[in-house]
Amino acid sequence: MEIIPEPPVQKTSISSMLSSNPYFSAGFGLMGLGASLALLKQFSIHGLTHAKRHLLVTLEISSRDKSYNWFLHWMAKQQSRSSHHLAVETSFKQFDNGSVASGVRFIPGPGNHFLRYAGIWIKIQRERQGKLIDLTTGAPWETVTLTTLSRDRDIFQILLKEAQEMAMRNQQGKTVIFISWGTEWKQFGQPRRKRLLDSVILDTGIKEKIISDVQDFLKSEKWYADRGIPYRRGYLLYGPPGSGKSSFIQALAGHLDYNICILNLSTRGLTDDRLNHLLTNVPEQSILLLEDIDAAFSGRSQSDDQGYQSGVTFSGLLNALDGVASCEERLIFMTTNHVQILEDALIRPGRVDMKQAIDNASYTQAKQMFLRFFEGRENDADEFAERVCGLEKKVSTASLQGLFVYNKHDPRRCIELVEELGK
Ligand code: ADP
Repeated sequence: MEIIPEPPVQKTSISSMLSSNPYFSAGFGLMGLGASLALLKQFSIHGLTHAKRHLLVTLEISSRDKSYNWFLHWMAKQQSRSSHHLAVETSFKQFDNGSVASGVRFIPGPGNHFLRYAGIWIKIQRERQGKLIDLTTGAPWETVTLTTLSRDRDIFQILLKEAQEMAMRNQQGKTVIFISWGTEWKQFGQPRRKRLLDSVILDTGIKEKIISDVQDFLKSEKWYADRGIPYRRGYLLYGPPGSGKSSFIQALAGHLDYNICILNLSTRGLTDDRLNHLLTNVPEQSILLLEDIDAAFSGRSQSDDQGYQSGVTFSGLLNALDGVASCEERLIFMTTNHVQILEDALIRPGRVDMKQAIDNASYTQAKQMFLRFFEGRENDADEFAERVCGLEKKVSTASLQGLFVYNKHDPRRCIELVEELGK
């Protein structure tokens, strides 16, 4: 019997079928590749986060912090030429003779910047936080974030100290002016060159009287403490506009090395609460200047030409003044053009300790002002002052200054034009 061998069974397993299919194996390859790439991506993301967390260090400065502006200005100095993304900042200067000058400088704009400082690379990110605004100032909320390698973290301390010192140097010999902004005090422009006391010409003896009173007060901390009296002193300067009230207070601030916080009581939107908050949060070493103090009296029943009702009431002002108590001395200057409408309750000692009229130009003032502009011309100065005093209508020192500024090379013309001032 012949045995016929069985024909070999063709083994067609699925795997061999698939592997023999060129389309499938290509797809599978791609899938594998995709998966490994995704895995790699995951690893690299994790790796990067891990590296960021362990190798980098960041420092965030928000725009509410004092060092925010210091840092931006410091940075502007470091890389003014290398940065391509800048923002403009306008500065404003007023000189003793009333003229003004303004300038612009560039600070780093929002976005990313890179900086090499002391051999270390730092990434700087200035960001505006979407729609967030600082409710107290109305300014957009911003942050700057500094990033560097973790081992270099000490650089932040050094850098911020340098920025602070730079800002302080910039303020030395200058007066910083703060104005109210919502419920906060905000620096107004760049610190200004100190106004010299000599540049403000008041009638005989007035400057000396006020300065000696202030200096005596500043030496009397213990006297006040021993008697349990709040360590503050209020001054009221009253008189027509343009007689040098504000200028004198600014010069006094410069003389004492104080800053100045200016608040006009007829400012729109100023309410009793805001006034109270502002007066209890005056920056250190500052004179508080409340301008147009009469607004608190007229404001009770009056509104201005645009129908706006002043928000500060008389009792609100008294409360705010009485509430000014701090561990350090507080000098409060108030000015008004309408002393006659102030009520006695405001002018009583403790609120106003010294009242002083600052009037239109007297003979002495007119003469001194003339000599400040035209040195050595004594006879002309006398003639000028006589003419000023001979006018029927008194003129302000501000208008005399205007006359000198417009005719700065022509003293005789100034004398001739005096009559025009009286019209
Ligand atoms: P007030 O506060 O009394 O309204 P300001 O001090 O604002 O007056 O003065 C307005 C301008 O006139 C300022 O530029 C100031 O320099 C000048 N001025 C006014 N009075 C004097 C003065 N007595 N001496 C020097 N400058 C004066």
